Amino acid sequence: MAATDTLGRPLRDLRISVTDRCNFRCVYCMPKEVFGRDYQFLERRELLSFEEIERLARTFVAHGVEKIRITGGEPLVRRDLERLVEKLSAIGGLDLTLTTNGSLLPQKARVLREAGLGRVTVSLDSLDDDVFTAMNDVDFPVQQVLEGIDAATEAGLLVKVNMVVKRGVNEDSVLPMARSFRERGHILRFIEYMDVGHSNGWRLDDVVPAAEIVATVDAELPLEPVEPNYRGEVARRWRYRDGSGEIGVIASVTQPFCGDCTRVRLSAEGRLYTCLFAARGHDLRAVLRGGASDDELHDVIGRIWGRRIDRYSEIRSANTADLERVEMSYIGG
Ligand code: SAM
Repeated sequence: MAATDTLGRPLRDLRISVTDRCNFRCVYCMPKEVFGRDYQFLERRELLSFEEIERLARTFVAHGVEKIRITGGEPLVRRDLERLVEKLSAIGGLDLTLTTNGSLLPQKARVLREAGLGRVTVSLDSLDDDVFTAMNDVDFPVQQVLEGIDAATEAGLLVKVNMVVKRGVNEDSVLPMARSFRERGHILRFIEYMDVGHSNGWRLDDVVPAAEIVATVDAELPLEPVEPNYRGEVARRWRYRDGSGEIGVIASVTQPFCGDCTRVRLSAEGRLYTCLFAARGHDLRAVLRGGASDDELHDVIGRIWGRRIDRYSEIRSANTADLERVEMSYIGG
């Protein structure tokens, strides 16, 4: 039986951030001015160990979680991540996936696959090096991400690609990305630029609405809508009318989906967030390291979900702009 919250939403998806560090400095996520040399990242001893993460994951599964996404920061900068993948895939019956910037996939894809990972989502915001390097802000070339995608495919991982679209920055990359990933046979998902955290200076004018993105693609490559795979699926699906594949749009700003949100997020230091836009998390590391029994841990998590009221994106307005919020790189995308 899945735990349900105050709005009747079941607990189905768990996103686990394994590190708050990243080797990119995407301007909309970890801008250098904030995440520079002096930034205090978490110390190793503050991070949950793989054993602690596994114990929590098993408890979440007992509460109804069916899908786990490993994220960060950049999850592949956490040493020996494949050991965690092995532990989580041993739980069985789970849809286990990972979100990455792709930079380390050439070295890691095979070991991750061998450890039991079935699929990955690779973030890539443009195929144009000038645009992409201006966005990742560490001069990381497009070609190396494409090599990461190829390495993942060759290793037998199913690959989806995520592209955040920001007005005046990479909207011209929408069509070239759609053409290219249709050719390559990977589902591309366009993400509306969101007001996560406070360091990216988000403005509503920077958002390219999903409807506009779909219209841009549809004008050249005709699309038709597809039914969701399951309740709570984040991306709205569209397929090419000629049968050559599909795209998704994640419209959390213009078409919020809080009513169907079945996700919970665990930060790298073990704080549990019931919304991407939450200010405060629940300290599960203290519960774990305080010696809680499995039953106690189960009850704590059940109570947190049972009291959940979050629906930030539906009530987003001028009044929410100044609210305290955690950063995406901390909580995990
Ligand atoms: N480092 C990994 C990666 O690049 O995919 C995982 C973490 S990253 C925070 C997860 C996803 O969140 C990426 O696709 C990233 O582009 C997206 N993201 C970060 N900040 C965002 C924002 N303000 N609005 C929309 N998406 C954002």
